[in-house]
Amino acid sequence: MLNVLFSAKSAAWTDYQAPLNAAFAEAGIDANLSRDHVPEDVDYIIFTPNGPVTDFRPYTKTKAVMGLWAGVETIVDNETLTQPLCRLVDESLTNGMVEWVTGHTLRHHLGMDTHILGQDGTWRDDSFPPVAAKRPVTILGIGALGAACGESLHRLGFPVTGWSRSPKDIPDIRCLHGEKGLQEALTDAQIVILLLPQTPETTDILNAETLALMAKGSFVINPGRGPLIDDAALLAALDSGQIAHATLDVFRTEPLPPDDPFWAHPKVTVTPHIASTTRPETAAEVIVENIRRGEAGQPFRFLVNRGRGY
Ligand code: NAP
Repeated sequence: MLNVLFSAKSAAWTDYQAPLNAAFAEAGIDANLSRDHVPEDVDYIIFTPNGPVTDFRPYTKTKAVMGLWAGVETIVDNETLTQPLCRLVDESLTNGMVEWVTGHTLRHHLGMDTHILGQDGTWRDDSFPPVAAKRPVTILGIGALGAACGESLHRLGFPVTGWSRSPKDIPDIRCLHGEKGLQEALTDAQIVILLLPQTPETTDILNAETLALMAKGSFVINPGRGPLIDDAALLAALDSGQIAHATLDVFRTEPLPPDDPFWAHPKVTVTPHIASTTRPETAAEVIVENIRRGEAGQPFRFLVNRGRGY
């Protein structure tokens, strides 16, 4: 019998208990899933950073920590965590992000606000959106989520450029990497989507200098993490017209404080970190499959590289 500790907020226990137990049964794994195991007896921890476990030292026989979140910036520096850490890559999470990114990209591409917000009896037939093929989109961070979003946008006809740390070869996406690749990826981009993890290297990656590389009147969409953007530089770029609109799902401080200038800015759309969320049924299957792999002596999937920070 495997002892599996569930360390997350109480509400998550309500959502996850049944799907996890069903997935264990389906996989033929005899697991005792609980929120109250003795630390020394725990084989695996299913984990969110806002749950009760913060010191991993007593978990001496724990074989891996299975995160329920895609982002790991709040756990990756925890020096008590010496066990392998896996982040969540889940089809439903990915699909949710593809829908959110595609929807907000199309909103800006089609100029939907003009007609949705400007219905005042005037027949404005003097301007049309360009076809998608004339609207270059750049995705900073072409990993699990970025690549899926890029493929969806390519299918709609957008020329998609993706930027990553290491070289990539993804069909139908122009793949760039490294410092020089960043400049090339941003130069003349009309829509820039941020799907990077938050690390020391990616902090403030969109700043006065890099925002200036984008096409005049372009759009920023950030479902990645708040610190990827230098907020003051973005506000200046919005006010100068360099950036026409920013759709922001993530912020340096969450919830976004009521007096934050983003709330009232006419060229900013705030969404409350809802771009995509983990769905218990599919996440439970992914986590149980990873535990099955561990028990079968196979390498874990979605291992976090502590040195890289993601
Ligand atoms: P992932 O698979 O690890 O992809 C991350 C991508 O960023 C990879 O392509 C990676 O390059 C690239 N990257 C990392 N550091 C870089 C650097 N210094 N320079 C250039 N490229 C760099 O992660 P994911 O699953 O797609 O998730 C991405 C992020 O989305 C998460 O970290 C999280 O912050 C955010 N997220 C937000 C929500 C929401 O609801 N708003 C939901 C889920 C996730 P390599 O491929 O070369 O490693």
